Amino acid sequence: MVAERVYIGLGANLGDRGEALLQALHRMAALPQTRLCAVSSLYSSAPVDASGPDYLNAVAALETHLAPEALLQALQALELAAGRERPYRNAPRTLDLDVLLWGPRQLATPALTVPHPRMYERAFVLLPLHELDAHLVTAAQLAAVAGQRIAVAQDARWAASAVSA
Ligand code: ADP
Ligand code: MG
Repeated sequence: MVAERVYIGLGANLGDRGEALLQALHRMAALPQTRLCAVSSLYSSAPVDASGPDYLNAVAALETHLAPEALLQALQALELAAGRERPYRNAPRTLDLDVLLWGPRQLATPALTVPHPRMYERAFVLLPLHELDAHLVTAAQLAAVAGQRIAVAQDARWAASAVSA
């Protein structure tokens, strides 16, 4: 079976944020049956619906033969390894890994809703996703989040060491 293209949203607003995101990318690249195809620029964004320090965000494109639940479990293990705690909803975090899109699929299980239900409200998802594949985001969707504070912190070379040749 052909590997499916999966987009992962990465975010961190506690600790050494850039290091946590880069380490997560290397660990995703090392998952079985999985290739890390591309990573967006690194973005800095204000928290949405939350307080706390600014986030660093990026989006990664994977190809994987893993099942969606298996990938989610692996991502949650990476969050834990990075010291993720969940004291309350939208709390600051050392690492957040969200499944944004899974090819053309729509998933709705107790653990996983794809497309991610809040991705279209978030500039920190839509800008890096648009950077990786402009077809995935419309101009109207970008316009809807244009008021959110976000800036490019580093160009896409920041993660080049993690991307498969
Ligand atoms: P959030 O990212 O929304 O701030 P969490 O990272 O704490 O919150 O995730 C809470 C739960 O969301 C997870 O336990 C997971 O089962 C569920 N979830 C549902 N859909 C997704 C998805 N597309 N990507 C990641 N987690 C998801
Ligand atoms: Mg999450």
